[in-house]
Amino acid sequence: MAHKKILIIEDSDIQSRILERWVTKYGYLAVSAPSAGHARMIIAREKIDVVLLDWELPDGTGIELINEILSFSPSGWLPIIMVTSHTDSSQIKEAIEAGATDFIRKPADEVELLARIFSALRIKSLQDRLLESSHQDPLTSLYNRRYMSERIEQEFQRCKRHDRPIALAMIDIDFFKNVNDTYGHDVGDTVLRLLAKELKLQLRKSDIVSRYGGEEFVILLPETSLENAHLVLDKIRNQISKILIPTDKNASFSITFSGGIAGGRLSPEITPADALKIADKNLYEAKLSGRNQIVSKT
Ligand code: GH3
Ligand code: MG
Ligand code: MG
Ligand code: MG
Repeated sequence: MAHKKILIIEDSDIQSRILERWVTKYGYLAVSAPSAGHARMIIAREKIDVVLLDWELPDGTGIELINEILSFSPSGWLPIIMVTSHTDSSQIKEAIEAGATDFIRKPADEVELLARIFSALRIKSLQDRLLESSHQDPLTSLYNRRYMSERIEQEFQRCKRHDRPIALAMIDIDFFKNVNDTYGHDVGDTVLRLLAKELKLQLRKSDIVSRYGGEEFVILLPETSLENAHLVLDKIRNQISKILIPTDKNASFSITFSGGIAGGRLSPEITPADALKIADKNLYEAKLSGRNQIVSKT
């Protein structure tokens, strides 16, 4: 298990070093920020698990920083423990309402601090699991449609900004209804898992694969031209068609899929919805032209 990273936002050098010593003693990684400015940079760049936050900082208050910590964090949320001498009940209320998870009185006590970090990490791990499952298709463990839609938006913006190519492929299993009708729904599910596994295996780590609908998959290939995406998908199509899928009657069958591709270099006005429409149109043409093929017309 990777070491959990604790961000210590504290302007007092002495305080900061005490906290660092305590958390590292218990096997956590400590990162220190002496100001709100520093903290912002770290939050945006590093994967932080828990924040220990001082109230008074040279360039603002911890309270003001809470919102930014929460929104800058890649997971959209982080446990924040206020470490402060501001411990009137009204101040505790203010901190919690601003989004802090917990607070601890200064001067902090080592055992109590570690116990609070432990509790914060437990919440964080539940939150991470929740976030992950909300992005995932349960049958194939691929990304689901909701996550894919978000990613397409992001990647399109990024590629337009940097004038980089990106390809979007939509694939659909051929005559999949026959598989279910002939071998049963369980075998159908196995086929979906198998295709998902092959796609993950054959594509690059930077490609994003999703189950977009029943037996339909959408793949995003950043930094990839239309021609290269066509070649890659065609190679996978060919490999998949050769896989023999066993049935319980000592027999086997194989499947094929059709695909439509869109993208390449994006003109500024093309939207993700436009690209999906083109990919879908190309997929439809692949089906009409006899299936088991890829179409990438612009
Ligand atoms: P085409 O070549 O035109 O795509 O034909 P098709 O039979 O694949 O297309 P159709 O859209 O008629 O059928 C899709 C089938 O996919 C119907 C549905 O029962 C099946 N399906 C969708 N989701 C699942 C699933 O989660 N598990 C299983 N086993 N089957 C599924
Ligand atoms: Mg301070
Ligand atoms: Mg379909
Ligand atoms: Mg189909």
